[in-house]
Amino acid sequence: MIDRKSPNTQSRSCGSCALCCKLLGLVEPDKLSQWCPHCLKSTGCSIYDSRPNVCRAFNCVWLTDANFGDEWQPTRSKIVICHVRYGNTSNLVFHVDPGWPLSWRNEPYYSQLKRLEQIPLVFTHSLHA
Ligand code: SF4
Ligand code: SF4
Repeated sequence: MIDRKSPNTQSRSCGSCALCCKLLGLVEPDKLSQWCPHCLKSTGCSIYDSRPNVCRAFNCVWLTDANFGDEWQPTRSKIVICHVRYGNTSNLVFHVDPGWPLSWRNEPYYSQLKRLEQIPLVFTHSLHA
């Protein structure tokens, strides 16, 4: 559980969410979609005060972009959205919780994702419409 507030979406904070600690391999990049060993289910990050800079710096897109409504809150959507730069292009990457692999096909997500098809999208876990 990483407690942060976005500069653009001041009412949003991580709260009890810790989904990026599971899906993104922030501490161990070769271990995507596995809970960080420092993440305790009941209390969140067990090394919060000394957590790595990569954790301190990370903000998911829901935290920072009000274009993504409250339905995209990660524990609700089961999806963590990130910006990832490939060369000169910044792509949106949708990391889908493997525990809910089809969550992105539910509404309101599917319709919104279809509308976003005009911009680069990458799904993790080889999920495609
Ligand atoms: S996924 Fe987003 S809202 Fe959830 S803990 Fe990570 S940064 Fe915070
Ligand atoms: S060190 Fe803490 S904040 Fe960083 S991924 Fe692990 S549990 Fe999350």
